[in-house]
Amino acid sequence: MDWINYYKHIYNKISPLTPLYFDCGELCNQKCCQDNGKGMILFPHEKEYLNTLSTDFTIVENNDFDTLFCTGVCQRETRPIACVIYPLFPYLYEDGRLDIRIDIRGKNSCPLYYDDFEELSLQPLFRLKLFVLFEEMIKDKEIFKFLRMMTDELLTIEKLTK
Ligand code: SF4
Ligand code: SF4
Repeated sequence: MDWINYYKHIYNKISPLTPLYFDCGELCNQKCCQDNGKGMILFPHEKEYLNTLSTDFTIVENNDFDTLFCTGVCQRETRPIACVIYPLFPYLYEDGRLDIRIDIRGKNSCPLYYDDFEELSLQPLFRLKLFVLFEEMIKDKEIFKFLRMMTDELLTIEKLTK
């Protein structure tokens, strides 16, 4: 698999996407970027594409997944997938069902987690475009396995934080 071109294609598709019709960073002074010390989990082989870009990211490799640390500022087109799709995440259940859901990790930090205000409702097209994208991406075995593992972790966090 040519992962560099694969992710180049994915980044071109997703970097223009935004959860709201305006920059949600204005709501919270870019809280998720300020929290970047926690690190962003990268998709399988995503680092191979990121390593071809000019960024000041630090990527820490791990057996299960790679983690990216940043300075809290980056170019829009170099944002990792985890940042572009936040606060949504592609939950992939045991039976293979895919659902683009609000990420439990946004609880207590991302204003979009609480979408009971009409102005904060996520763009339906944002969710739909992510669904189409991830439906395609899970055809790859490594990405499928990664999303299954992440989904189980997120479901565990959900249970523990109820
Ligand atoms: S995704 Fe959430 S935390 Fe991040 S900038 Fe938008 S509203 Fe703020
Ligand atoms: S990589 Fe960019 S978008 Fe993601 S948290 Fe860091 S500064 Fe924000």
